Amino acid sequence: MSEAQLIDGKAYAQSLRERIGAAVTKLKADHDLTPGLAVVLVGEDPASQVYVRNKGKQTHEAGMNSWEHRMPDTASEAEVLAQVQALNDDPAVHGILVQLPLPDQIDADKVINTIDPNKDVDGFHVINSGRLATGQESLVPCTPVGCVLLAKHTLGDLSGLEAVIVGRSNIVGKPVAQLLLKENCTVTICHSRTKDLTEVCRRADLLIAAVGRPEMVKGDWVKPGACVIDVGINRIEGAEGKTRLVGDVDFASAAEVAGSITPVPGGVGPMTIACLLRNTVQAACATAGVPVPEM
Ligand code: NDP
Repeated sequence: MSEAQLIDGKAYAQSLRERIGAAVTKLKADHDLTPGLAVVLVGEDPASQVYVRNKGKQTHEAGMNSWEHRMPDTASEAEVLAQVQALNDDPAVHGILVQLPLPDQIDADKVINTIDPNKDVDGFHVINSGRLATGQESLVPCTPVGCVLLAKHTLGDLSGLEAVIVGRSNIVGKPVAQLLLKENCTVTICHSRTKDLTEVCRRADLLIAAVGRPEMVKGDWVKPGACVIDVGINRIEGAEGKTRLVGDVDFASAAEVAGSITPVPGGVGPMTIACLLRNTVQAACATAGVPVPEM
């Protein structure tokens, strides 16, 4: 029987998208500015195609311009770099997202670092990670922003909390850690070599799991009353040969101990695209030199 408060990321993301839509309407009326997001998809990866379709749909629904540039999985690195450069040079494009993963012949870091940092709405460019790490204004990776928005929505002020993050990737673990430092948490980052992982997790007032291992974090890793944010998206075999999505947290056991917890699906997942739209509005305002409306 679950005791914890369920953190409804789907509802929060929907209300955020509505606020973004209102901000876009205001930018059009006050400044004749329509934020625009261009997505580059290389190859036929089925999961990437679903993500890109959803991004395009939600960008349109928020009243923004949306472009999709599809390239074959045989595209050369030079062709992808040329496409990114063309988008850098297009003033109607305020945000550029290159869908990952890229085919093996293409160096993803090189592509990301070719994006104009002011249009880097994924926040993966070294300039933006450097700005984030040094506390400067930057475009911040979307999933980490989504995690922190949900934590603040649930807990209010995060100042002084013990935050433990399991996972140190450049796209989730490290930027989440930077954002939580900015919120004045005491931050511990764990990874595959961490000793006594269970003990470290049990210290957390705020536990964030971004590991990519289905249901790894068990209920007895959770401090009673803690807030648990589960970033993991793992497809596993379910009953009767069907597959189902689970997180990196064993939801049933963790929900008995936690004070609040995100479900999978319906937790962090829906926040990612909403935060991408938010970043696109911020990028458009910065480029146009106009204030960012309330979102
Ligand atoms: P990565 O594979 O890049 O990183 C996983 C991290 O977990 C690494 O730092 C790794 O440590 C650590 N790790 C792996 N095994 C263990 C272990 N047994 N004990 C402790 N730490 C371990 O994954 P991502 O950060 O890209 O993604 C994490 C999860 O989040 C995935 O399930 C992914 O699908 C999901 N995700 C969801 C998003 C969304 O909601 N929209 C967006 C992005 C990701 P080490 O560095 O030592 O190898």
